[in-house]
Amino acid sequence: MHPALTPHSPDRLTALTPTPLTGEVVVRMPPSPTGHLHLGTARTALFNWLFARRHQGQIIFRWEDTDRERSQTAHEEEILDGLAWLGMDFRTQSDAFYRQTESDDFHREWIRKLWAEDKIFPCFETPEAIDSLRQAAHSARTNFVFWSPWRSTPRPELESKINQGQAFVWRIRTPKGETLTFTDAIRGEISTPSDTLGDFAIARSDGSVLYMLANVLDDSFQGVTHVIRGEDHVSNTPKQVLLYRTIDRPLPVIAHIPLVLDSHKKKLSKRRVEPGVAVLIQDFQDYGFCPEAVVNGLALIGWNPKSEQELFTLSELCQAFDLGGVQAASAQYDYDKMLWLNRQWLSTRLSPERLTADYAQWESPQTLHQHPHFTRALPIMAQKCKTYAEMGTEFPYFFSDITVTIDGLTVPKKAIHPPEAITILTACHQTLANLPDDQFTPAGIKAAIIPVIQHLGLKNGQFLPPFRYSLSGTTPSAGPFDTAAVIGREQALTRLQNALAVLQPHA
Ligand code: GLU
Repeated sequence: MHPALTPHSPDRLTALTPTPLTGEVVVRMPPSPTGHLHLGTARTALFNWLFARRHQGQIIFRWEDTDRERSQTAHEEEILDGLAWLGMDFRTQSDAFYRQTESDDFHREWIRKLWAEDKIFPCFETPEAIDSLRQAAHSARTNFVFWSPWRSTPRPELESKINQGQAFVWRIRTPKGETLTFTDAIRGEISTPSDTLGDFAIARSDGSVLYMLANVLDDSFQGVTHVIRGEDHVSNTPKQVLLYRTIDRPLPVIAHIPLVLDSHKKKLSKRRVEPGVAVLIQDFQDYGFCPEAVVNGLALIGWNPKSEQELFTLSELCQAFDLGGVQAASAQYDYDKMLWLNRQWLSTRLSPERLTADYAQWESPQTLHQHPHFTRALPIMAQKCKTYAEMGTEFPYFFSDITVTIDGLTVPKKAIHPPEAITILTACHQTLANLPDDQFTPAGIKAAIIPVIQHLGLKNGQFLPPFRYSLSGTTPSAGPFDTAAVIGREQALTRLQNALAVLQPHA
């Protein structure tokens, strides 16, 4: 007998059935490990995480790895590591952890049961034959719906064809003329005529179950109460509504969260975005984001907190989140907003210890964070930078030697020629040389320099540019009070002397 015709055994099915979680709120995160961790997937994980926490619910993590050719362990690692980086450690904090392929026997037993109950049938139509029907519909500009010619073939004939070894797929016998309805928790009631579905495939001839049914069986028997997933699955849901009915199990609450669009209003994809725009979680790591800012930004894609608050920690999000604030309309991804949020996090929320640790991790294998100026530079860099990457590249003059040119040291438009510049830098040198140690801070240096500017009868716009440039060697740059404090007295005096040496021959 062909293995597909092995009789169904209720006892075997009972033995294979998973023990479900039984909470009032059980959500699930079921990625397929077939690609990188994309911000859309991370946002779906986040919304599930927040919903579960908000309702003291439980969360299931499940690898949907039935596509064995495309599933990769490397993707699994990347996805779990990326989610953990964002603060969602599914390895240790999910209430159940499944792998779909491990339920293979359970799924196959269901195929035997549905076949025994005559709810599904083997369809021997070849992919080529179906394809030519699809082409014909396309040419006639009609929607293609496949109704299998085998749906009403007598059972003995179907069994004999299976036994002859003819290739087939299992299809569900979709009822005609019905309306399949479900109430989406975000989009409201959605009704679909069953006539648009056709007899869709649910398993291969070897009994291995396809996504559409495997997903329903797992959700249902693992105890999922709320399915929160991307809008791209809306079109699968009527089929799954029919499958729930076919297996005689109640429908969970279903919520489709809005698609994330790129700046061209197309579904966000790594391929179409401009270079340098983060889309994968790995990109955010590479570009030097802190995870808090990424989580904060992901939460705000398609969810409105209905308050003025913009900065949220993960635990604040867990308090504030609800599906009521999730919009149905697609949400546009705004990378500038992510950068803005990251800047807020770097400049106002993270402790110096966290900034140092994050920066050290980001810059590896460089060792800027071990530079003696780093601790003093850190608060200034964090105020001015959108990312750790900028911190590493925008302030070379805090950490390495500089050279200056005569052009940078003078401001002819403001009547600062070499003699005036020499007066300015000499005064700066003297002031910094005499400043007590405990006042060698940005504020202390500023307090000492401002009276000098007034004393010389100059304006800030005349005095400060040569001072600033002589310390940084570049324009624009950090302010001179900051730079002097970061590089310290000795180096500041050396740089002023070097600048004076450049000016002298021109005086
Ligand atoms: N494995 C599916 C995916 O990654 C899950 C879909 C669902 O949430 O039902 O898209």
